[in-house]
Amino acid sequence: MSVLYTANSEGCQNETPLVDGDSQIGTVGCVAVDNEGNLASATSTGGFVNKMLGRIGDTPIIGAETYTNNLCAISATGKGEAIIQATAARDVAGLMEFIGLSLKEAAAHVVEEWVPRGTVGLIVVSSTREITMPLNTTSMFRAYVTEDRYSEIGI
Ligand code: ASP
Repeated sequence: MSVLYTANSEGCQNETPLVDGDSQIGTVGCVAVDNEGNLASATSTGGFVNKMLGRIGDTPIIGAETYTNNLCAISATGKGEAIIQATAARDVAGLMEFIGLSLKEAAAHVVEEWVPRGTVGLIVVSSTREITMPLNTTSMFRAYVTEDRYSEIGI
């Protein structure tokens, strides 16, 4: 099996100032495709410092922060409430499925037009092994590697 994957962690701009100014506490997302085009995604949210107990935004809801169909696999990080309201992950897949946008066009549209600035970053891979990792936050630690060991990292 050949695997291609990316990982993410958010650098989300928060509305509420944080005690230590650190909002990057360990979100991990992964998307993968094998050499037959089978796709998978997974997300483990990191939450925010001083978050409200039981806050639903800190939950990787399928369709919002994580989604996979036969076209693409998506994992999202950032402000959960904004990502949930936009159903960001599912909308990337939907734009490809119903309107025929490319992977990069669909992901860019969701990040630039549908989710408020400063609230989201995505890692996305297609069944044809295209990769895109758009964000509208100040940073998102991210990386990918291909089966021939080509890799890239970004901050
Ligand atoms: N979505 C999470 C939250 O809003 C943060 C993250 O893990 O990306 O708490």
